[in-house]
Formats: sequence, structure tokens, C-alpha cells
Amino acid sequence: MTSSLPLVIAAAKRRFWVIGGGVVAARKVKTLVDAGATVTVIAPGIHQDIAALLGSITLEQRPAMDSGEAYCAGDLVVLATDSEVVNALQAEAARAAGAWVCRTDLPADNDFSFPAVVDRGALKIAVSTSGSTPALTRLVRARLEAFIPQDYARLASWMESLRERVRGMFDSPARGRFWRRLVASQALDQVLARREDVADSIAESLLQGDAHTTGEAYLVGAGPGDPDLLTFRALRLIQSADIVFYDRLVNPAILELVSPQCERIYVGKARSDHAVPQGDINRLLAEEALKGKRVLRLKGGDPFIFGRGGEEIEELAQSGVPFQVVPGITAASGCSAYAGIPLTHRDHAQSVRFVTGHMKDGTCNLPWSELIHPQQTLVIYMGLVGLPEICRQLIAHGMPETTPIALIEKGTLPDQQVHTGTLATMPDYVKGKTIQAPTLTIVGSVVSLHESLRWR
Ligand code: SAH
Repeated sequence: MTSSLPLVIAAAKRRFWVIGGGVVAARKVKTLVDAGATVTVIAPGIHQDIAALLGSITLEQRPAMDSGEAYCAGDLVVLATDSEVVNALQAEAARAAGAWVCRTDLPADNDFSFPAVVDRGALKIAVSTSGSTPALTRLVRARLEAFIPQDYARLASWMESLRERVRGMFDSPARGRFWRRLVASQALDQVLARREDVADSIAESLLQGDAHTTGEAYLVGAGPGDPDLLTFRALRLIQSADIVFYDRLVNPAILELVSPQCERIYVGKARSDHAVPQGDINRLLAEEALKGKRVLRLKGGDPFIFGRGGEEIEELAQSGVPFQVVPGITAASGCSAYAGIPLTHRDHAQSVRFVTGHMKDGTCNLPWSELIHPQQTLVIYMGLVGLPEICRQLIAHGMPETTPIALIEKGTLPDQQVHTGTLATMPDYVKGKTIQAPTLTIVGSVVSLHESLRWR
């Protein structure tokens, strides 16, 4: 069952059959009874765990009939006898009647299977490999069990208790906004801390306040690419946003983390593609927040490092829109860590300098004579086009031709590549390669550590 789809079944509305009475059958019967299903068990002898459930099931203590049981369309039939022949025969009869079949001895033949469940009251998390690799299912379930506190059951019922009122007060987009705000507020932590009264009053003020809240803007650093490098705060704000403005540097996997109702607006920023001019971006952020939305401006890396983050919040400050700035891991940190190139090192560099430049008419506007200090690592935020000019100028201003240089392509992403060479060799090296954006350049003797410290 590789093409499988997890669905949730209203167990109480279905009739379940369990054919067989051994330990495998017992586990399924228990699961079904716990879910409130109507269960008929057919087996000549039964495991003690089934005997313990006698008050909640119908038991027919006999072998299953060769002609099949009185299956009806829409029934769910679990075949758990120890005979493949019996299971196959019952499967055929069940399907002929329009029932669905779960063969515990032959998962590949299943119409349905039982996922492992992390059970938190109304909240159920199903983990399934459709019976193909139970050990992996158990591993993932154990992780989720540890990760999701038992108290989420209380959280689920507390949130459910608000549902009717929210439905009555808001139409659909405002309703979505209310729930996102609630989830981003302190209320959930209060429920988990067993202070439902405090949670109730937070919910109350959100219920009352929705119509006339001003929005807020979040300038959030999304890091260099790997979603694991987001901060907790970034993740929380990403999940609570009503609208997101993003550009080319933001990994699509990070964009996936926004809520499905969140509006997504691409504002470009490839070298030649200024989808939305900077001034318009600044204005849009403020406008949307003034409409009452939670506006997320996602920037690659850190918003205050070569990201024009400062300009974007100036407009917000002038318009009186409340905003927050969330730092991100900048490309220099992400790339250096994932490439195994420390930016400083007692034997190599006592300082590090981040620079960016623009190419214009074949030249690059960098303060060259300041960049050639020995014992200083140079990190250059800039596309590949400037690279030959950078190498040429550094040499011309006195840096040794043999100085090591690294070009990190798609840093921290699964297809990251680290290219190394010297100021003399790198320009020719890149000519022969297809290198994809974004790339970051690191110059200095720390680059020589890459061979021994690379770990990815
Ligand atoms: N604010 C961002 C930098 C924006 S400038 C930050 O803090 O990282 C854009 C430049 O950053 C790119 O041209 C490239 O040189 C560098 N860059 C960003 N992400 C990168 C990545 N994943 N790998 C390599 N370089 C990256």
C-alpha cells in the first residue's frame, strides 16, 4: 500500500468484524473497543485480553464460516486468524459483500490498516507505513509521545469548548485569524499550566478585540536555508501570520510552515528580477498591517545583514505600526558551520569582516586596501559574477596569490557544495563549472581547515 491516504473513521458508526482470537486479534479488538466501535469477534477460542472485553463486544465462539460471514457493504473486516487460507477466503467474501479488509498476515493486500496512534483525547496523531515497516512506525510514535505532552488532551477540549462561540461571532476569514492569534498567544501555555481561568480571559479579550486590533509586522530572519536553523520565535511568528512577503533567498520548505490560510506574496530580488521595487515593499508592509493583519516579512539569513531590513521597518515606524525584528542565522555563520570553516581561529584569524559589493561596468566598489589585512577572514556576500574581479583586485592590492578561498554554493541546503582553491586558481576554476546561486565567498587561511573539519 505505498499509495496510501490516512483518513479518520467515525468508529461508532461502522460495524467491525475481527476474525480470529489470538494475540494479534486481541490488540485490534482493544483498539476498536477504545474507539467506541461496534465489534463482532468470531473465533473458536479467545485470548484472555479479548475475554476481558466481553461486555463491550459480540463474541461468536466458533470457526468462521467457509462461505463467509454476514458481511455488509461498508463493514470493516480485520482478518487475524493464523491460517492464510482462512484469511484469504474471508477477504474474498467480505469484498464481495462490499466490506473493507485488513489482513494482518498480508499488509500488501489491505484495503485499510491500523496506524500507530498518539492519543491525546480529541487530538489523535496517526503514524503509518501501511504495515510495511512497523519498527519505523514505532520509533516515530515513541518520539511523538515524548514530544507532545499528555496535557494536549486538555488543550484540545479547552479549544473545542470555544468553538461554538467563535463560530457565532466571526465569519470565516476572521475565524481563522482568531484561531491563529489564540494559538500564538499565551493562552495555550496557560492551559498546559492548568490555569484555564487565565487562558479564558486571554481568549475573551481576543474574541472581543478582533474587529479593531491594529495588526503587527514581523521582520523575521529565515536563516540561510536549512529550516532546522530557524529560531523558535521565527517559527511561532511564521505560523501565526496572515500574510507573508518573501523573496528568492527563502527556502520553499520554510514557506511551507505558514498556515494554509496565510496569503503569500513574492517580492522577487533575483539580480535581474525586481518583482516589486523596494519602496513598494516598504509601503505594502505598513498598509497590510494597518488593515489589522499580522504581516510577516521573511528575509534570508539575518534581516539586518545586507538585507535592507532597516529600510523596511523605517516605514513601519513612521506609520505607527507595531513591529518586531527576529534575528536569523546569517549566511556567513550558516555556510562556515556547514562547510567546516571556522571564521576565526587562533592560528589563522583574529577578526572577520563581512562585506558586500555590486558589480558595475566590470568593476566592484569594495574598499580593497582595507580587505587585505593578514589574520583577517573575509566573507563576501555577493553572487558569482564578481568573483574573478574580487580575486584580481585582492592580489593587485597585495594579498598573496596563494591565499585560500572557498566558494560555498547553496550553503546549508541538502545540495550544498564547497569549492576551494586560491586567489590565483579560483577564477579559472569557476569558468568550467555550473554553479548555482546563492553563493558565499570566504577568503583567508581559515579556508585551509575545511579539508580536516568538513563534516557534511
Ligand atoms: N541577509 C542575508 C544576506 C542577504 S545578501 C544574510 O544575512 O545571510 C544575499 C547574499 O547572501 C547572496 O548573494 C549570497 O552571497 C549570500 N547568501 C545567502 N544565503 C546563502 C546560502 N544559503 N548560501 C550561500 N550564500 C548565501
